[in-house]
Amino acid sequence: MDAVAELLAALGPEVCLTGPALDGIAVRSDASATGRDLPIALLRPSSVAEVSTALTICHRHHQPVVPQGGMTGLAGGANCRPGDVALSLARFQGVEEIDPIAAAMVVRAGTVLETAQNAALDADLLLPIDLGARGSCQIGGNIATNAGGLRVIRHGTVRDNLLGLEAVQADGTVLSHLSRMQKDNTGYDLRHLLAGSEGTLAVITRAVLRLRPLPSDIETAVCAVESYDAVLALLRMARGQLTLSAFEVMWADYFDLCGGSRLFAETPPFAVIVETEGSGLENLLEKAIGEGVIFDALIAQSEAEARRFWEVREAALPEAHMDDIVNLDVSLPIASIDDYVRSCRAAIASALPSTRSFFFGHVGDSNLHIMVQVPGYRDADVHAVDRIAYGLVREVGGMISAEHGIGTLKLAWLGHSRCPGELDAMRAIKHALDPAGILNPGKVI
Ligand SMILES: Cc1cc2nc3c(=O)[nH]c(=O)nc-3n(C[C@H](O)[C@H](O)[C@H](O)COP(=O)(O)OP(=O)(O)OC[C@H]3O[C@@H](n4cnc5c(N)ncnc54)[C@H](O)[C@@H]3O)c2cc1C
Repeated sequence: MDAVAELLAALGPEVCLTGPALDGIAVRSDASATGRDLPIALLRPSSVAEVSTALTICHRHHQPVVPQGGMTGLAGGANCRPGDVALSLARFQGVEEIDPIAAAMVVRAGTVLETAQNAALDADLLLPIDLGARGSCQIGGNIATNAGGLRVIRHGTVRDNLLGLEAVQADGTVLSHLSRMQKDNTGYDLRHLLAGSEGTLAVITRAVLRLRPLPSDIETAVCAVESYDAVLALLRMARGQLTLSAFEVMWADYFDLCGGSRLFAETPPFAVIVETEGSGLENLLEKAIGEGVIFDALIAQSEAEARRFWEVREAALPEAHMDDIVNLDVSLPIASIDDYVRSCRAAIASALPSTRSFFFGHVGDSNLHIMVQVPGYRDADVHAVDRIAYGLVREVGGMISAEHGIGTLKLAWLGHSRCPGELDAMRAIKHALDPAGILNPGKVI
C-alpha cells in the first residue's frame, strides 16, 4: 500500500481528501500567490490522535507533509510541491478554556485568530496578538510564523505570549507542554524553538496563550509629519510619556495609494498612526505641534473613526489590491530606515523602471514592509527586487524577515542575516527532530 492508500484506510475519506474532493478548497497557495501545485492528498484531522496517526504513516513512507493553517502566509511556507501531502488543522479548532486567574487561554491550533480574540474579549481579557489577516489566519499558523503584527511594540510577538505548547513530531510522537506558568526553566525550551519554525520541526496542535487586562482607554491619532527625523522625535516623545500600543508609519506613496489623502488636505511626506493606552495623547500632540515635530494631527473621536485610520494602514481600499505585487518585510535599525527606503526605492527604480514601490511599517519595532509592483511578475525581475532589497538589508545589519518568515521565498537569502555556524546549527536541529526530512521540506533551511 502506498502512503495515501494507507492514510485513507486509517483515517477515512472525511479526513483524507483526494482528487475531486479537493476542488474549491484553497490548498494550492498561501497569500503570496506563488503556489502552483496541488497536494496528492489533503489531511484534515479533527484530533491530536489523528494528527499523530497521519504523521506516523507519512514518516514510515518518507512521505513529505506540508502543514497548512489559514493560508494567509506571505512567504510561500504553506505551498506544496508535486507529490506533497497537505495537513490542515482547520477541523481541530476552538478555545478549550480561559483561565482568568492565570490570565491564559488554551486554544486549538486550527482556531481562527479573530475567534480566539473574541473569546478573550467575552471574558473581559485581551489576547494581545493582532494582525490584518485576523479573520482567516489560525493560531497554529501564527505560532509557526511567530507572527508580529500591530501591537508588538506593547506586547511582543506571538513567542512572547506563548506560555505552553503541544505539538506532534514528524514520527507521530506527541510533545505536550501545556504549561500556564510564566516562569518555566525546565531545560531546553521547545516551545520557543517551534515558534517561528514554519512547520519544519513539528505540527502544532494546541497552545496556551497569555492574556492581558483589557486596556481601560485607547486613543488613536494620525499625524502628518514633515521628515523622518521628526518621525523619530515623535516616537521618542510618545514612548517616553505614554503607554504606546502602536506606532505605524506610512511613506507618502503608500498613504496616497491607500486613500490616506482623504484625511488631510495635502498628502504629508510621512503619516504616523499613534495608538496609546490611557489618556494624554491630545496633550502630547499639542506639544508636538508646538515644537514643530508634527504639523497636523487628527484624533479619533470614536471607535469608527479610529477604524477609518486603521483601514488606511491595512490597505482596505480596492486600488491598494494590485496585481503582480512582491511583498517584502524586513527589520532594520530604526534610525536608518528612511535612508534604506531612499536607497532601495532608487536602486529598484533604476534597475526596473516599470516597477512602483511603496513603503510602510511597524517602525516602532524596527519593521519595514515594502510592496513592489512588478508588471508581468517575471521571475528575473522578482529576483532582481529581492537581490537589491536584501543586499541593502545586509549592508546595514538588518534581518531579511521581520515577521513573515523564510518559507520558500526567502530561502536563498537566509545567509544575508544568519552566519554559517547558525545555519549549521539549524540544519542539525532539523535533522534531530525530523531525521527523514518529511516536514515541510524545501522551506526555511
Ligand atoms: C492582509 C494580511 C496582513 C498580514 N499582516 C501580518 C502582520 O501584521 N504580521 C505578521 O506577522 N504577518 C502578517 N501577515 C502574514 C500572515 O497572516 C501570518 O504569517 C500568519 O501568522 C499566518 O498564519 P496562517 O494560519 O495563515 O498560516 P499559513 O499561511 O497557513 O502557514 C504559514 C506557515 O506556518 C506553517 N503552519 C501553519 N499551521 C501550522 C501548524 N498547526 N503547525 C505547524 N506549522 C504550521 C505552514 O507550514 C507555513 O510554513 C499578513 C497576511 C495578510 C494576508
